[in-house]
Amino acid sequence: MSDYFNETHEHVRATARKFIETQVLPNIEAWEEAGEFPRDLYKKAGDAGLLGIGFPEALGGIGEGDIFMKVAVSEELMRSTSGGLVAGLGSLDIGLPPVARWAKKDIREQIVPPVLRGEKIAALAVTEPGGGSDVANLKTRAVRNGDHYLVNGSKTFITSGMRADHYTVAVRTGGESHGGISLLLIDRDMPGFSTGKKLKKMGWWASDTAELFFEDCRVPANRLIGAENAGFIAIMSNFLFERLSLAIMAYMTAQLAYEQALEYTQQRKAFGRNLTGFQITRHKLVDMATQIDVAREYTYRCAALMQAGKNPIKEVAMAKNFSVDVCEKVTREAVQLLGGMGYMRETVVERLYRDAKILSIGGGTTEIMKELIAKQIKL
Ligand SMILES: Cc1cc2nc3c(=O)[nH]c(=O)nc-3n(C[C@H](O)[C@H](O)[C@H](O)COP(=O)(O)OP(=O)(O)OC[C@H]3O[C@@H](n4cnc5c(N)ncnc54)[C@H](O)[C@@H]3O)c2cc1C
Repeated sequence: MSDYFNETHEHVRATARKFIETQVLPNIEAWEEAGEFPRDLYKKAGDAGLLGIGFPEALGGIGEGDIFMKVAVSEELMRSTSGGLVAGLGSLDIGLPPVARWAKKDIREQIVPPVLRGEKIAALAVTEPGGGSDVANLKTRAVRNGDHYLVNGSKTFITSGMRADHYTVAVRTGGESHGGISLLLIDRDMPGFSTGKKLKKMGWWASDTAELFFEDCRVPANRLIGAENAGFIAIMSNFLFERLSLAIMAYMTAQLAYEQALEYTQQRKAFGRNLTGFQITRHKLVDMATQIDVAREYTYRCAALMQAGKNPIKEVAMAKNFSVDVCEKVTREAVQLLGGMGYMRETVVERLYRDAKILSIGGGTTEIMKELIAKQIKL
């Protein structure tokens, strides 16, 4: 265990764990196979107080600025064994912060509380069919016309894209490059907005992932989040927490795979002994445990820097890359240690192995993290 968590954190952790054990684990296999979880799970999570963590009390949240409370809950949500569920349920954590921080007062007071109660769903839409890594080059265009913007373009791979009510959308309001980008809060019922088909994926089956289309979509001008052409900085500051969350998701995915492999190898017999009777198996398990511990502790260090008000861009990028690498290695070894059973859909490691792959892509790819780190260390 770690020194970073206090009694309140552990109390909230226990609430999240109970929520997962009672509301999610009995159903998760069925939801994964169905490719979605019921919409009323948002309401249940809201009622349990799990959606409001990190948001201001004035907007119905249960307090800003306690990073370790969010870390504790994020760890427990991953005990659902479904990255897709965590991503879907958590799409508000990437879609809503810019609204809570920078939207006009009346808009944020109208939009944020129902999302935190789980009555409405929020999503973030940055990636476009033409590219996701090169955010500064995005093409969706919003042109101001009196009291509204006319938006044209499309987005893709958007988590909760099919069923969100509110989308925080990155658009081009100005010239080329990062100085011409703004954020607009667009609702699904605005004229000119539509969604494409639900995209089929390698993993994260329980989350919906969709394309969004804007055809002369009419968005009231008061839906501008922050200042016009200041969206790039908002997107980048949003990324910091998303990347920390992905690092947590990665070491927790690895942790679950390790636990499954440990349990299996302690009772599975081959050549007259348990699998843990072979030194190579023990060493594999030791390597897994070691890597997970290091990934977790370094991620906690990043969270502590954020808690102290720092902006650890480099460290969080390193934590994401390290944790994701550990996750890929550990899930692969876990499948291997379970042998044929590890390849079966009925085992958790099969899902963890598939779900691991997205973590090196979402929230900024491993390569983009390396470019960021290179810049920060002035290479
Ligand atoms: C399941 C899922 C859920 C997602 N959810 C969301 C969401 O909710 N909201 C959202 O906005 N987006 C979302 N995304 C999109 C995700 O953020 C992007 O896929 C990611 O940022 C990469 O963009 P891309 O797919 O366009 O790849 P590209 O940018 O086309 O990159 C392709 C490859 O080129 C590499 N590359 C690109 N530029 C460089 C460079 N300068 N140097 C070296 N290598 C480079 C990349 O690392 C990658 O390997 C999601 C994606 C998936 C798969």
